[in-house]
Amino acid sequence: METLLDLEALESGYGLIQVLWGSSLSVCRNQSVLLLGINGAGKTTLLKTIAGLVPTWKGKIVFDGVDLTRLKPNLRIAHGIGYMSELGMVPNLTVEENLKLGGYFRTDKENRKRAGEMFDYFPDLKAYPKRMGGALSGGQRKMLGVAKTLMSMPKLVVMDEPSSGLSPKFVKKVIEVLKFLHERENLSMLIAEQNVSFLDFAQKIYILDKGQVTFGGDVEELKGNDTIRETYFGISQTVRSQPPSPVGETP
Ligand code: ATP
Repeated sequence: METLLDLEALESGYGLIQVLWGSSLSVCRNQSVLLLGINGAGKTTLLKTIAGLVPTWKGKIVFDGVDLTRLKPNLRIAHGIGYMSELGMVPNLTVEENLKLGGYFRTDKENRKRAGEMFDYFPDLKAYPKRMGGALSGGQRKMLGVAKTLMSMPKLVVMDEPSSGLSPKFVKKVIEVLKFLHERENLSMLIAEQNVSFLDFAQKIYILDKGQVTFGGDVEELKGNDTIRETYFGISQTVRSQPPSPVGETP
């Protein structure tokens, strides 16, 4: 498989606080990769470093054969990296405006065509083009986040906790949508999650712990690793034992 994204010993953080301590991982073309880790492990920081929102202190980010380490976030988008934050969309912009923002670097003609595709993928959004992002249900917000990210026609989407705040029913729906997009658009995906429902969707899994990648392998290897099964899955069940937040279903 051809490598699309290669992170070489990344170090980064905020001011004097170092969060990533030499994280290395790769995503191949058309591969869905899951990044697991408990709260505070550094998942968000890793994704933001890939997107260019947090500067790289040391190490290298190579994407599609190009060294992006020092590029500004907008140029990373232009190279084909789509970043979806945990919030995913802009609450005080309408559905249409969010999509337009996602397609900022595309022409109006490309955006009209792409928005039409997004509305076909996500009929709920088509029903409410003028509704504010913040007025959508939790599940719809995530769909808008995915649609907004896809507007830039990325080769790789980097997503931060697409399941957060959603009930199990909506988590299932988000996974279905991601599976569909992975097959339909041959999208490569790097998804940071704590929810183990994503395990079966992933072709490769990394575990991030205290800013370092401590495991990389497929789901069978992960489940076959006693230490990870006992410690990590125990922890993730504890984390997810909180009730889903009320943004779940109601608009
Ligand atoms: P979570 O699932 O809780 O979001 P995470 O694995 O995504 O966790 P990060 O959000 O990357 O982890 O946080 C890693 C560490 O960096 C934490 O100790 C956090 O407190 C710290 N941190 C995150 N953002 C900032 C910031 N803007 N300034 C200072 N420290 C930060």
